Amino acid sequence: MFDYLIVGAGFAGSVVAERMASVCGKKVLLIDRRKHVAGNAYDCLNADGLLVHQYGPHIFHTNSEQVFQYLSRFTSWRPYEHRVLASVDGKLVPIPINLDTVNALYGKQLNSLQLEAFLASVAEPKEAVRSSEDVVVSKVGRYLYSKLFQGYTRKQWGIDASQLDAQVTARIPVRTDRDDRYFSDTFQAMPKLGYTHLFENMLDHPNIKVELGVDYREIVRGVSFRELVFTGPIDEYFGYRFGKLPYRSLRFAHKTICKERFQPVAVVNYPNDHRYTRITEFKHLTGQIHARTSIVYEYPCDHGDPYYPVPRAENAAIYAKYAELARSSPDVHFVGRLATYRYYNMDQVVAQALTLCANLAGVSRAELCESETRAAAASAA
Ligand code: FAD
Ligand code: UDP
Repeated sequence: MFDYLIVGAGFAGSVVAERMASVCGKKVLLIDRRKHVAGNAYDCLNADGLLVHQYGPHIFHTNSEQVFQYLSRFTSWRPYEHRVLASVDGKLVPIPINLDTVNALYGKQLNSLQLEAFLASVAEPKEAVRSSEDVVVSKVGRYLYSKLFQGYTRKQWGIDASQLDAQVTARIPVRTDRDDRYFSDTFQAMPKLGYTHLFENMLDHPNIKVELGVDYREIVRGVSFRELVFTGPIDEYFGYRFGKLPYRSLRFAHKTICKERFQPVAVVNYPNDHRYTRITEFKHLTGQIHARTSIVYEYPCDHGDPYYPVPRAENAAIYAKYAELARSSPDVHFVGRLATYRYYNMDQVVAQALTLCANLAGVSRAELCESETRAAAASAA
């Protein structure tokens, strides 16, 4: 008899498995229908020996010291600050928009102070910032919106930015200095030996049994367990009874290039040209030294694995019905990006999973994160 059956070995499921096994001594069966752990963060060596992220570039960043310290139990880190360029009218310009982006696209030589005044003169202030279009246009105006956001967003989501919640483009700041980092978080780093290695360390515990290539529906009747933790799509769990929740998918085209470097930074975005949104060159992320290099093109599509919940009011309304149903199933816990239909980054999923464990264990999140350290310190003393 298992205390927990956990469906999905991504960050959500693996964190719950690790904490419930290590801190609470629970017996856990962790399954995934994929043939590997790590969910969408999975990385592996390709046929040419290059470390690639199978499901697109995953860059770790967080402002939560607790999340960073927790994950540091399972990996050491490679310092890395992410930089992205956008290809616009034959130029490569920094994204998020900064001083250099504006000077390059307007052919100006403004300084930071002048830029603030300039952006104020081109911005279209809105009384209420509701959509992803409003977010950008109200800060930088329509010209920069059309060059950097309009086409990319349409490709990525299959709908216009005016139809998407503000939170989507609000992920991208606007800067008036020359800071060209994609993220501003306190902690930015890559797991030194990769994400899969981090997960293998996390799940290496005698109370955790991992079964891969197994779908929940196929095994649920044959396993005895007390409680279920579900990290797959919540609409699928409930048999789509309130309709399908839309998820945006991606097709990844991986390629090895027979030269050492392909592009100047890890990611180049193509807002206006091509059917793909961006090209990633992994060696920038991994620091691997190799005579060849590996890249991936991302082609957004409607069908395929569910990668992105689509933040729109009408989808939030469908999700609310599933969430209500979830609340009336006290022995089933829903956690993670697909099960709570939230456009969450890895660190937010880890934090959400730690909160669930703290609630299940009846302790604070700080206690939950420290408890093993305390137990280890007590036994060492
Ligand atoms: P997942 O990783 O999706 O794991 C859920 C698992 O459940 C899957 O492995 C699935 O196979 C399994 N599953 C589902 N249903 C069943 C079932 N019925 N039976 C068995 N198994 C099942 N975040 C960042 O912080 N930084 C980034 O740079 C970043 N880049 C991203 C790039 C892309 C292209 C994508 C798609 C996401 C990116 N993310 C990034 C987000 C990150 O991938 C997620 O926050 C994180 O992986 C979510 O973890 P999860 O455990 O909730 O879900
Ligand atoms: N975005 C854009 N142009 C860019 C970068 C981002 O229009 O050059 C918009 C787009 O709608 C995208 C969203 O901002 O989906 C969030 O970007 P992010 O890089 O955070 O997306 P993710 O890495 O999650 O795919």
